[in-house]
Amino acid sequence: MKVSGDALRKLPKVDLHCHLDGSVRPQTIFDIMKAAGCKLPCPDPAGIAGFVQVDSTCRSLTDFLNKFEFFYPYLRTPGSMERIAYELCEDAAKENIRYMEIRFAPCLQASEKVTQEDILLSVLAGLTKGQRDFDIKTGAILCAYRGTPREDWEKTYDLAEKYTGQGVCGLDLAGDESRFPGAPFALIFDRAKNAGIPVTIHAGEAAGWESVKEAVDVLHASRIGHGVRIAENEVFAERVKDAGIILEVCVTSNVHTGVCADYKSHPLPDFYRKGIRTTINTDDRGVSNIDLTHEWNIVQTKCGLEIDDVLDMNILAIDAAFCEAPDKKFLKNRIQTETRKIMSGLSG
Ligand SMILES: [Zn+2]
Repeated sequence: MKVSGDALRKLPKVDLHCHLDGSVRPQTIFDIMKAAGCKLPCPDPAGIAGFVQVDSTCRSLTDFLNKFEFFYPYLRTPGSMERIAYELCEDAAKENIRYMEIRFAPCLQASEKVTQEDILLSVLAGLTKGQRDFDIKTGAILCAYRGTPREDWEKTYDLAEKYTGQGVCGLDLAGDESRFPGAPFALIFDRAKNAGIPVTIHAGEAAGWESVKEAVDVLHASRIGHGVRIAENEVFAERVKDAGIILEVCVTSNVHTGVCADYKSHPLPDFYRKGIRTTINTDDRGVSNIDLTHEWNIVQTKCGLEIDDVLDMNILAIDAAFCEAPDKKFLKNRIQTETRKIMSGLSG
């Protein structure tokens, strides 16, 4: 059975892999750039979308990342970060995302005037207000960033340690895995393991399955951002399955960046049917111009999955969430109850 339209939007959802800086509304980018006195390429917010969002024909990581280049410098203020965190809660709640983990690399927004901690506190303020005003629970994942100086990732780690349980729920490694291997980052991920901070690592996207192996064996990842390239090695894919590693799969993002040629050839259905623990996520909902409802629709209409498969992965996502056990229990119960109600209305 497939579900689309309003019923699909109403189903309660979980998104474990969403980048704050890739999820900004075009209107907000317009406002922030205007307030900064920037010379805008168009007179109105509607025109800005073409500069900050890829279209459906995008198949290149370079084209994808160029969209970030356009607006990134203007995000580097606490006010901007608080606003986009708040608005992301609103956008996600509108499509009934009940739980969302929002990640960002504070070292990329920090400057001489603004510390990583200033950035983190502004994001947490936005998320706190967003949770108060909209029906959603969130957790922040801090990303250490490949290719940045060691002191930057050490600062990010210190913040993760200080704020885990107070809005922060985990630590990630993002950035270009094809040029910057993860091994040097063991320095902070060993500490994360000892401190009990949950770890997810971007791997198996721009680099091959070996990058996922490194994330699991060296960096202690229990979840992998993307991980799609484990498809290149069946033996290792089996190991990922047996170890119960969670893949945070982001289908449209993989197509837009050219990691997968098209929706039809995406390995998600194959992983899922083999028993690898997969979840469906957005990645950069603003730049890709999508939401999670779009992704749930795509995997049913273009990847050959059914709504029951999607709902199964949604429950797996809550099981794999980095939130506290009582919150997880409450959310799971709520999501199952709401899902049953909507689905029984459809089949009845
Ligand atoms: Zn990502």
